[in-house]
Amino acid sequence: MPDKCEYGLLIDYEYCTGCYACQVACAQEYGWPEGMGGIRVTEVEQKLPNDRAYLAYIPFPTELCILCTPRTRQGLEPACVQHCMAACMKYGKIEELAKEMGKKPRMVLWVPRS
Ligand code: SF4
Ligand code: SF4
Repeated sequence: MPDKCEYGLLIDYEYCTGCYACQVACAQEYGWPEGMGGIRVTEVEQKLPNDRAYLAYIPFPTELCILCTPRTRQGLEPACVQHCMAACMKYGKIEELAKEMGKKPRMVLWVPRS
């Protein structure tokens, strides 16, 4: 069984399309009522010169995320990771994910509270 504290999620939000599949997958897996869940996708609008705007989506786990321990114990990927078609999310050992973080910007490493 993986030690939960050694594992985390690496989120590359540069390629997040804002499809909300991760949020839906988590809600379906754990039966969260509306407005609750282990991950939340936030829309962020950045103003650019010449009245243009850049819309970014930032998926971020909440305090309710249990890192899908029941799934990972069976060797499965977390539900959110499995359903992200843009492959923005990666589950793994914190040490290994931290090394990947240095390779490009717009990445977030999330570690559950122990
Ligand atoms: S790892 Fe599991 S519990 Fe955490 S956000 Fe993803 S689907 Fe929800
Ligand atoms: S499933 Fe992937 S692409 Fe879709 S909102 Fe979540 S992180 Fe972004």
